[in-house]
Amino acid sequence: MSAETIVRKKKKFADEPNFSEKKEYRPENVKETGLAFVGHEISDDGKAMNQFLHYDQLYTIRHGLNSKFFKGLLEGKIWATRCPKCGDTWVPVRTHCWNLDCNLEKTEWVEMPLTAKVHTWTIAGWSGRSSLKRLPIILVYAVIGNSKVAIANELHGIEPRDVEFGMPLKIVFKQKEERKGIITDFHFEPADGWEPSPMNPEKERIQQLVEPVYKWVQTLK
Ligand SMILES: [Zn+2]
Repeated sequence: MSAETIVRKKKKFADEPNFSEKKEYRPENVKETGLAFVGHEISDDGKAMNQFLHYDQLYTIRHGLNSKFFKGLLEGKIWATRCPKCGDTWVPVRTHCWNLDCNLEKTEWVEMPLTAKVHTWTIAGWSGRSSLKRLPIILVYAVIGNSKVAIANELHGIEPRDVEFGMPLKIVFKQKEERKGIITDFHFEPADGWEPSPMNPEKERIQQLVEPVYKWVQTLK
């Protein structure tokens, strides 16, 4: 390969942005090794966000073209991406369209409403150490707005037996100063005005399954 060919070759990677907005929230005197987000940085032009995850050792997560989604969480917003050709919309976001006819069309950003509906769900009766006292935990895959895919998060403010497929949800963010630009900055709750359906055999069955979990949690210090 001649030198000339190399010069003409398309530049594969953009220059690395300068990161000057940086936050550290690593707790002091951490003894337990585990999983924790300990900081993040945002580039001068606001387009790129990196996060620092401590999981036995320190990892840097470079969000690249997906950065706007994570920055949006800091601001209490849900950003999705949309294909300008076919209109398909995604949250979690895609950088390029998945439809073959769109030939990997680059997506554009669109802000989503803070509403969703349950696609599917499960009840966690066991978890990592940091969440044990919150068991049982309702985990849902929920469709936000008109997204073509579902996103996983916790559902609060409802008895495990009362969750229903397709039920309407609202997105509730933590207080601004508590947000870290991570998925746990928000959770789902039933939409205002939603009422659970009356007791039925399936709800009885779920109630019997979760009762020992509640009892066990009470034994934790
Ligand atoms: Zn498309």
